[in-house]
Amino acid sequence: MGWRGGGIVTALLIGGERITTASGGDYQHIYPATGQPNAVVPLAGASEIERAVASGWQAHKAWMALPVDRRRDLLIDLADVVHEHLDELALLNVQDYAVPVSYAGTALMLERFLRHFAGYVDKPHGSSTPVQGSFDVNLIEREPYGVVGVIAPWNGALAVAGSCVAPALAAGNAVVFKPSELAPLAALRFGELCLAAGLPPGLVNVVPAGAEGGDALARHPGIRKIHFTGGGETARKVITAATTNLTPVVAELGGKSANIVFGDADLQTAAALSAHQGPLMQSGQSCACASRILAHDSVYDEFVDIFLARIAAAKIGDPLDPAVSFGPVISQAALDRILAVIADADNRGSGELLTGGGRLGGELAQGYYLEPTVFGGVDNSSDLAQTETFGPVVSVIRFTDDDQAVSIANDSRYGLNAFVHTRDLVRAHSVARRLESGSVWVNQISQISPQGPYGGYKQSGFGRTGGLEGLYEFLQVKNIRIGMG
Ligand code: NAD
Repeated sequence: MGWRGGGIVTALLIGGERITTASGGDYQHIYPATGQPNAVVPLAGASEIERAVASGWQAHKAWMALPVDRRRDLLIDLADVVHEHLDELALLNVQDYAVPVSYAGTALMLERFLRHFAGYVDKPHGSSTPVQGSFDVNLIEREPYGVVGVIAPWNGALAVAGSCVAPALAAGNAVVFKPSELAPLAALRFGELCLAAGLPPGLVNVVPAGAEGGDALARHPGIRKIHFTGGGETARKVITAATTNLTPVVAELGGKSANIVFGDADLQTAAALSAHQGPLMQSGQSCACASRILAHDSVYDEFVDIFLARIAAAKIGDPLDPAVSFGPVISQAALDRILAVIADADNRGSGELLTGGGRLGGELAQGYYLEPTVFGGVDNSSDLAQTETFGPVVSVIRFTDDDQAVSIANDSRYGLNAFVHTRDLVRAHSVARRLESGSVWVNQISQISPQGPYGGYKQSGFGRTGGLEGLYEFLQVKNIRIGMG
């Protein structure tokens, strides 16, 4: 990063070169904890995307020209380099979007995904099969797409680097990685670390951009697959742009996850996990936010008391303070939008405001800090319960039996995560099977691992990250039949 006009200037990283002047213009990055300018971010436009795709194709050829064990070792080297820079990446993550450093664990997640997918590089991806009526040899091979586009949301560039860029590289692809203009810093450093680890220049091009650069990427004929993580409305635009070349798209989208607390749950643990997974973690700005808490009638009042006490105990403040567990939201626009959601829920009587509801003042007044906000007795058909807020606002909903809990949980257009708190293993299994959700977490928070596939049902998206399913998103299948006479 360099300096221009007194501010930190980031650079695009294309073909191993740093580019500080780009056709998408400059974006003024603001640090959400202070509301102060933090960095100037040159944004990719169509011409930089063009260059990145061309450089990706060159690098893909260089990558595939390496023996498989060399590619594996280079990804392990990259994991080692990331490991050496975990603290730096965590701090850049804080700079990116003021996530409390106590939660900035996505750098470690990146390292774990890299190690996991490095292990797939030299394992067989193909198979062979007998074919009817002949003695022919029939091989089923899996090949990389070539150059893929990975579009990340502002709240998870390093997580996406791990869950999408790592398997894309392991499969043999080059990547044009587009972080959000709102949070490009850690992603750009990751690109530099790829070079430091010895990956071919251009194998990972990092092009911060907004809608213009993202659209150019999605409709570029040289991009053979798009992996998009973000909101549903943007996904529609990305899919529309990708249809220009009939480019396949994976979509990891938002959620309105149900968090079911049964009468037999350990209430202390359930409340602690629900507070973290609900309004506290990343100030509710997580696709996995457990924003609809369903509490059984028999424990509703007791649970709510413990839950509110847990939230009240959270330290709010400077994201760089390791004791802080609750930081600001991403921008003034997000703050205004979330305050409007709260006001609307209040006006419509969607539920009873139990705590929070306002902007924080005093020392935090310059930052985009909102109080953790909880509505009780919420009607599941309300906008509050049906629309992703992407902020520290959660609803508590009462239920009386298992069938009703499942029915309320599934009464949503989303299906990304569901949480179940119970001591009864049979109930845990039977409820998990009935939930329309890509992931179900029983007595725990969402612990996304490189081994477990992650992705959505319904409008939470399609395709998976993690595990073999996540690898296969970046491989296409070829059937080769050899006549044996
Ligand atoms: P967003 O949809 O506004 O932006 C996502 C990305 O798309 C950004 O990089 C943005 O610059 C880019 N973009 C914007 N317009 C584009 C266009 N026309 N063409 C191509 N790209 C374009 O989302 P956000 O605010 O960055 O992130 C929040 C959303 O992401 C939430 O809905 C959240 O639930 C979701 N999310 C999902 C997951 C998951 O794994 N399922 C993980 C994190 C976040």
